Amino acid sequence: MREEYQALVAEIRRHMKKYYDEDEPEISDYEYDRLMLRLKEIERAHPEWVSADSPTRIVGASARVTPAAQEEEADTERKKKRTAGVTVTHDVPMLSIEDVFTREEVADWVHEVLTKHPDAVFCVEEKIDGLSMSLRYEKGKLVMAETRGDGFTGEDVTVNARVVSGVPLSLKKAYDSLEVRGEVYMTHEDFERTNALQEARGKKIFANPRNCAAGTLRILDSAVTGERGLSFFVHNVQRASDDTLMRSHAQALTLLAGEEGFRIAPHIVCNTADEVLHAIDTIGARRGELPYDIDGAVVKIDRVSYRADFPAGSKYSAGHIAYKYPPEEKEARITGIELTVGMTGRINPTAVFTPIRLCGTTVSRATLHNQDFIDRLGIGIGKTVLVYKSGEIIPKIRGTVTDGNVRTEEEGIAEIAAHASRMEAYRKEHGIFRIPSACPVCGGAVQNEKDGVDLYCSNPDCPAKLVRRIIHFVSRDAMDIKGFGAEYVTALIKEGYIRNIADIYTLYRYRDELVEKGLIGKDKNTDKLLKMIEASAQNEPWRLLCGLAIANVGRTSARTLMRHFRSIDALSTASVQELTQVEDIGEITAGAIAAYFRDAAHREMLDALRAAGVRMETAGAEGQGGVPTEGVYVPGEGTSGAPSDPLSGRTYVVTGDLRHFKNREELVDLIEAHGGKVAGSVSKKTTALINNDAASTSGKNKKAKELGIPVITEEEFLSAAHFLRIGEDS
Ligand SMILES: [Zn+2]
Repeated sequence: MREEYQALVAEIRRHMKKYYDEDEPEISDYEYDRLMLRLKEIERAHPEWVSADSPTRIVGASARVTPAAQEEEADTERKKKRTAGVTVTHDVPMLSIEDVFTREEVADWVHEVLTKHPDAVFCVEEKIDGLSMSLRYEKGKLVMAETRGDGFTGEDVTVNARVVSGVPLSLKKAYDSLEVRGEVYMTHEDFERTNALQEARGKKIFANPRNCAAGTLRILDSAVTGERGLSFFVHNVQRASDDTLMRSHAQALTLLAGEEGFRIAPHIVCNTADEVLHAIDTIGARRGELPYDIDGAVVKIDRVSYRADFPAGSKYSAGHIAYKYPPEEKEARITGIELTVGMTGRINPTAVFTPIRLCGTTVSRATLHNQDFIDRLGIGIGKTVLVYKSGEIIPKIRGTVTDGNVRTEEEGIAEIAAHASRMEAYRKEHGIFRIPSACPVCGGAVQNEKDGVDLYCSNPDCPAKLVRRIIHFVSRDAMDIKGFGAEYVTALIKEGYIRNIADIYTLYRYRDELVEKGLIGKDKNTDKLLKMIEASAQNEPWRLLCGLAIANVGRTSARTLMRHFRSIDALSTASVQELTQVEDIGEITAGAIAAYFRDAAHREMLDALRAAGVRMETAGAEGQGGVPTEGVYVPGEGTSGAPSDPLSGRTYVVTGDLRHFKNREELVDLIEAHGGKVAGSVSKKTTALINNDAASTSGKNKKAKELGIPVITEEEFLSAAHFLRIGEDS
């Protein structure tokens, strides 16, 4: 059990990191909640195991109720003018509702309440998937709207709340004081309209209505909030000077809806456990047709005075439970299967199906991974599949549906094993899709990589691979040739001007032809791009190395390697053993690097690049310049004089707005150029969190404070003192 406990803690931490820091949840909220529930069970049985940093003790970890914190991070990056909101302390704490996952738990709870109070009545309501907001009214006027935050303090969002649909600015009856709590959400219609607008303006697309609502409520420009459209449902009276609102929950809601025009959470009043379960089923059944997302049903004791008899712990509202529905799955019919070819030549099959709505968005495509996956599920055009969303974001296919039976991957494994000797015939009989043996782009032979299940185009000159490779080479991570868009790359390859990377540097010879054909626009644009290409030849060679797209050699390893070897020549002659001496370079990567430079075609291409004047050596002499001795370090100055890696062994996390750098990339470049590392999330290994706003309530700031990691401003980071101190103790 102890082992299970520790494994569970590690697992939950990993998912928290994925969710909060990396914005890439692997599992749905439902699955996450189940893990937390198990953890709580074990902790109840073994309170002596619980440490102060257990996920159950971390606010915002037990339920993923703070998409706002995550959204804020994204927001600060996106919106330069954003500053931290004003924090307010709630008059009445905005607690969470304890989740339950089985009907038995619901029934047990109802029985417990009825045993103590035989006249108790229950209200079952939709649990809308939005974010919580409280409204305070004084003398009938709206004076404050606040977000939930950590349950005890939140953010003042009064300005934006005024443009939310369903928020009256003044009440007909001038209650001395009234505080109501409810959910701010976005309807599917508003969500799709907002994303369409975002797309048209070249801005970030929101993953789901909840994220969009969270970002929209907290954005600084209330005109934007108004344009996107948010709605509000009241689901609780927190506090009222008038006692009639504090007796029966259902009556209070009805009164607020009837007299004051509040929109209220749709609810069903029940007397018994059976009625409660029936109400949960009724709400669950119409879940797909609602114009907004719900993720559960809340069961509340109607008589407010009874609630305190059923406390659920300091973090949860007494007298409430929330039944969580399993993640949504829907059927769709496959109308086509698309094949694309990746940079490595990998053939990617994608299913296209009749559009369905899942977790707030319309989806019509999902990856089929490879032939094994297709065989196991028995996928083919015209078949019905069951689709769900992984992490509530990425559409995935669970299985094929025939006469109400689902064939999942697990079931398919046995089925396939039984027909392994005659797969081709089996596929034909069952209408299973077969990835063609010819590359969909070049017609080259498609082959299995040894031992792998993935299929690759075997033609080394496949244009699909080349297009992707060139796009990578000119990208910001690699040679950073601005203005060299995918459209030009494709056209130049198609017309035969680019057959490999080195050809980019001979394009200038065909300048007049290119202008005549208009391949890179007219003469002005063509000259501009040719100039950018010429300038890129002088880049630091780690950019060239990164651009070669050797397996596992991204920008960070490319920099590490070039700091070590100084020149591409030295790197290209290094043995696998020498390569593995370099920090963070494992045997697989070392093998891939050595293999790359052994390839005659690659050596020839590098010779051509050298002949074209592309720089192969790291600039500067050892041991001079680079590190400031006093004052503020000016980025860009002194970076060419090779520094003695003063930040070596140091890891930084960067968040929030920057003042000295054009963008985060620039600061990352500076840190990496001095031998430091930049991580995406704060951990015990972090040297410092660079954030100009020390008062920010972002997840990263909180984490840093918890772990005692220093939070420093950009100036503090850039100050000579910081560099020198690091120089001293390393
Ligand atoms: Zn091909």
